[in-house]
Amino acid sequence: MFSFSDHSDFSSRRCVWVNGPVIVGAGPSGLAVGACLKEQGVPYVILERADCIASLWQKRTYDRLKLHLPKQFCQLPKFPFPEHFPEYPTKIQFIEYLESYAQHFGINPQFNECVQSAKYDEACQFWRVKTVSTTGEVEYLCQWLVVATGENAERVVPEIEGLQEFGGQVIHACDYKSGEKFRGKKVLVVGCGNSGMEVSLDLCNHDAKPSMVVRSSVHVLPREIFGKSAFELAMFMMKWLPLWLVDRLLLVLTWFILGNIENYGLKRPSVGPLELKNTQGKTPVLDIGALEKIRSGEINVVPGIKRFWCGMVELVNGEKLKIDSVVLATGYRSNVPYWLQETEFFTKNGLPKAPFPNGWKGKAGLYAVGFTKKGLSGASADATRISQDIGKVWKEELKQKKQRVPTHRRCISQF
Ligand SMILES: Cc1cc2nc3c(=O)[nH]c(=O)nc-3n(C[C@H](O)[C@H](O)[C@H](O)COP(=O)(O)OP(=O)(O)OC[C@H]3O[C@@H](n4cnc5c(N)ncnc54)[C@H](O)[C@@H]3O)c2cc1C
Repeated sequence: MFSFSDHSDFSSRRCVWVNGPVIVGAGPSGLAVGACLKEQGVPYVILERADCIASLWQKRTYDRLKLHLPKQFCQLPKFPFPEHFPEYPTKIQFIEYLESYAQHFGINPQFNECVQSAKYDEACQFWRVKTVSTTGEVEYLCQWLVVATGENAERVVPEIEGLQEFGGQVIHACDYKSGEKFRGKKVLVVGCGNSGMEVSLDLCNHDAKPSMVVRSSVHVLPREIFGKSAFELAMFMMKWLPLWLVDRLLLVLTWFILGNIENYGLKRPSVGPLELKNTQGKTPVLDIGALEKIRSGEINVVPGIKRFWCGMVELVNGEKLKIDSVVLATGYRSNVPYWLQETEFFTKNGLPKAPFPNGWKGKAGLYAVGFTKKGLSGASADATRISQDIGKVWKEELKQKKQRVPTHRRCISQF
């Protein structure tokens, strides 16, 4: 370990030189990069603000969650899911898989260490990554910085008039675990993406009375079409057909299976589901039972919110509903702009400017993994590219030094 204290800013921040990349985030993306770097023989350090790997899955998801896509589209590089896992592994199984992934590749992130800022220092040509943890403040110096903090790092909480006056329980979907606590209650679920639909379904299954706010349009597709996953079928058709035609076919098949969802207050976007995903990153909802509950009236679909009153919500159509609780299934956002001092590679929303598959590499040793809007398969593709890119430079540098191990490998990197 090569570390020293820097008193220049009158604080006692420890400085650590990392021989290899610093990876920020120990979710599936950070773990995938760690595993691929290991294969390339490149040491690294992973910094994670939580006290465990995959904190999104372990701490911020509901109990009934299963992978939305079949397991073959969700496995990380170089380590398949166990064969006995079902087609759609449960959240617990996915966490188990990630734990064995980390163990298999000997990945040991530094937990409880939150990255507060990262900046490229032109003068010394290193990244300066500052963290805070329970044991103090540290500044890491490194040649490569891999951003793996995810598209879902922070919750989005919209400002809605009167929410302060409402008086009942208001939670974000990331704090929702199960409908058990809501038994018999009238719950307003704000949002109709995969989370909003599944929370509403879960509430029904626990004898609560959900009303789901559908402000704009949404694509709902069956999770399976003729026994095959809709996603797999779409990927298959894309090999032969143009995107617009695949979109049309998907919508026709959906109409046969689910009927006309507009009959239930769900408006379809004018753009097809795959085109919408590609252009705006909006994921279609894969129905796993919520639509049946909407059809039977157990989930009440309501239009946008005008404002909240004490114990009540007023909708844009003037209707007023008495409610006990609110679940905000209003999504997540990246936190990159809050800590990465860089404007060339990332947008102000914290996503790479270049679209997939080109948004993984920036300048001066900056990389991004898991920002493709393509879930775990996109993260795996990024991780493979990043590790090969860094591995190439690493091996060239080693060759140039004409020695097997560089002299400065006195550091905290994992190997
Ligand atoms: C409810 C839900 C269900 C989903 N289901 C699927 C699915 O079935 N299939 C699929 O492909 N995708 C799914 N996704 C998408 C999901 O985002 C990915 O599966 C996956 O979790 C992304 O991994 P990641 O490592 O990029 O991000 P994350 O899992 O969010 O991990 C990022 C890590 O970075 C850490 N971090 C953030 N900021 C800092 C900081 N400043 N310093 C240090 N550490 C930091 C976080 O604590 C976190 O552990 C789902 C998402 C949600 C919310």
